[in-house]
Amino acid sequence: MTATINRFEARLAPCGKTRHGELRMTEDQQGLITEEVRYSCGCHTAKEEFHDGSCHRRTVDHHGKVLVDQELHGE
Ligand SMILES: [Zn+2]
Repeated sequence: MTATINRFEARLAPCGKTRHGELRMTEDQQGLITEEVRYSCGCHTAKEEFHDGSCHRRTVDHHGKVLVDQELHGE
């Protein structure tokens, strides 16, 4: 499994505030790519991309409220 972590200074968080945070990308042997963004306020987004092209997105704000939770299916 490989992981890449990138910090960013200011980005619009799901709660509407501009916050710094970090972006973490991991890829496992099965070809599953996970992209996670964590903001300093506690907001969090995650995107999982499967090798068949389908993907799952999830956005949770810093209150723990799920804003987006959707699955997209590839061809
Ligand atoms: Zn927030």
